This record gives sequence, C-alpha cells and structure tokens, in this order.
Amino acid sequence: MNETAMRARAAIDLAAVRSNVRALRGRAPGAELMAVVKADGYGHGAVPCARAARAAGASWLGTALPEEAFALRAAGDTGRLMCWLWTPGGPWRTAVEQDIDVSVSALWALREVTVAAREAGRRARVQLKADTGLGRNGCQPDDWPELTAAARDAESAGLISVTGVWSHFACADEPGHPSIAAQLAAFRTALAVAETAGLRPEVRHIANTPALLTLPEAHFDLVRTGIGVYGISPAPEVGTARELGLRPAMTLEAHLASVKRVPEGHGVSYGHHYTTSGEVTLALVPLGYADGIPRHASGSGPVLVAGKRRTVAGRIAMDQFVVDLGDDTALPGDRAVLFGPGDRGEPTAEDWAQATGTIGYEIVTRIGSRVPRVHLDSAPETGVPAAAGSRDMGGTG
Ligand SMILES: *Cc1c(COP(=O)(O)O)cnc(C)c1O
Repeated sequence: MNETAMRARAAIDLAAVRSNVRALRGRAPGAELMAVVKADGYGHGAVPCARAARAAGASWLGTALPEEAFALRAAGDTGRLMCWLWTPGGPWRTAVEQDIDVSVSALWALREVTVAAREAGRRARVQLKADTGLGRNGCQPDDWPELTAAARDAESAGLISVTGVWSHFACADEPGHPSIAAQLAAFRTALAVAETAGLRPEVRHIANTPALLTLPEAHFDLVRTGIGVYGISPAPEVGTARELGLRPAMTLEAHLASVKRVPEGHGVSYGHHYTTSGEVTLALVPLGYADGIPRHASGSGPVLVAGKRRTVAGRIAMDQFVVDLGDDTALPGDRAVLFGPGDRGEPTAEDWAQATGTIGYEIVTRIGSRVPRVHLDSAPETGVPAAAGSRDMGGTG
C-alpha cells in the first residue's frame, strides 16, 4: 500500500500521452512534432511525459524556461530541445553547452548568445522569433531585417547556426478569426526576409495545438503541441477531447476524510454559503485551493462521489471541501474523482474549466506540489517498463 497516495493523487496515464502524440502526428503528417513540456509537463510531470512523447515519435521537446530544458538534459534526454523564454543574463552558455535551441527575438539576446558561444567554443543553435501579431515576444517586422542580417553575420563568423524561424498565434483557438490569416501572411513575409538575408533554417514553425488541429496550412516543418499531448482540447470551439481523438492523461482523485449525517439547516464550510436542505450525508474531500483546486469552483465544481456526479457544497477551503450526498451513503476512504478521462462517469478538466470560467490548461497546470503525481501505464509496450514509477518524475509541480 502506497501511504502517500491515501489522501489524494494525480495519476498520469503515460499510454494516453503516447496515444495523443500519435493522434496529433496523424493530424500533421508532413511535419515533425514538438511536445511542449513546460510548467512540469502542464502539471503532468515533465520527464515521464517527455519520455512517453519521445517513444511515440516526438522528435522535438519544447520548454519555456531554460531551467526546464536543463532538467530534461539532466534526466538523460539527448534529442532536439528548444526553450524560448529568456531574460538578460541567460543562462545562455549552459544552453549552448547542452545543445539546446534558444529563441532570440531581439539584438540584445543575439549579442548575449554569441558571447556565450564564443566562451563555450561551440556554435549556438538559435531560432529567430518573429512577432507576426501576438504582441508578446518576437521581433517586430520593422526590426526583422536588421535582426536577420545580424544573425547571418554571426553565422558567418561561426558563432551560431540559425536553426529555426518561428512565431506564435494569438487566436488559433478561435477558428476563422481574421488575425489567423493575417499572422500566416506576416509569417510568410518574415520567412522571405530571412531567406533574403541568407538564412536557411532547419525548421519553420508557428502552429500550437489548435492550429495543428484546424489549420493544415500552418504546419510548415514542425508543430509545437502542448495541451493536446495531455489529452485536453484547447477550446470547446475546436472540439471536445473525444471528438479530437485525444484522451485526458491526468486523473485527480482523493479519498474521503469524513462521512457523516447532519440535520436540516446545517451550514457548510466558511461563510455558510451552503445550507443543508434536509437531513443529509456530507462527505469531506481532502483537497483545497492550496492543492490548486480553484476557490472559484465553490458551489460549482463537479466531482464523482459514491457513483454520482455531485457539485462542491459551499466554499472550497485551503485543504478541503464538502460534497452533499443527500441520502446516499459512502465510507471514509471512498474515492472522489475530481476529473479524469471522463468515460467512467467522472468530470473532465474541461468541465472544471467551464465551471470556473477558465481553460483546461489552467486547471491541470495549477495542481499543487502537495499532490503526488503517480505515473501509470495502462497499455505497456514491449520494451517499455510496465510502470514508470512515481519517484522518477522530475519534480511535482
Ligand atoms: C505553450 C506554448 C505552446 C503550446 O501551446 P498549446 O496550445 O498547449 O499547444 C506552443 N508554443 C509556445 C511558444 C508556447 O508558449
């Protein structure tokens, strides 16, 4: 018996990760696939998910932070790996030494990475990012000729290789949004300018999960997919996970800490925003906002307890919340499932997103470090260990 699993756990099915990567590759057959494993694999455990994604054919991994990329190298990953969120000071040199593709959006970053390459005594792998309309990172069109020319000079000097030219969509999760076509056109222009500067990147890429699923003309050489790897739809407009052939990998569950009968008119949790409508059974779920359960789900979050879908009764507290079972019965220790794949009566992370006015991305990434991640494999493959093991998980949140 695993005693740490008795309160609550997030179980991650690595077979679902593999099957999602295969399904996504099938939707973009002409492109390579980058599995985005930033933010600890969207809360699922970066290292085991990265391994599962590699096993299913992801030839690239992507992270936001350099530290996240270093953790993958430390865990033994030797494949193509890119990270894109840099601030002055780096750590560029470690990235160069570890053969990690770094994103550059401005001259200051190009200068810093060329200095690091000179110090490291090897070429940096640099991917230039164009702002085609997102207004976040990326080089503005007016500055792009200067950045691409400077990058070409650094390449000629033997300090860098420009391995990629890339960008990111603002509204790919709203199919038909006019900004999508405008960004695609701006990206083609940016590619042409880079080519005129003499750059011959290995990969050109702009598609995230929603663009991969809805916009084949955006696939180019590589698709960067995050949320789809974990089996969650990027947005209801794009389709449900099931419609998209994806399977949610994470199941968040807890064991009831208390079950008791209370009389009619009994207040429930802080502020007494819920009062029992008769004599009922209350069940206590030992997960709260310190575990990443949104406090906004007070009175609205769905949960499977005692065979039925119920709703959180009253306020979600730091460590716990209450569910009203009416006249149904349960025992302390019985399982409560907050979300999972959705095929055994349990809600999904997308249901929680709808209940709280957010997106599935936020529901899974916010699950706290106090909740152990346990990696399982519902469909072990030959040569793949039957259980990945919960200790081999590269961080917990
Ligand atoms: C997070 C991220 C992605 C992945 O987006 P999904 O919608 O999860 O597929 C791709 N590219 C960049 C730059 C990102 O920051």
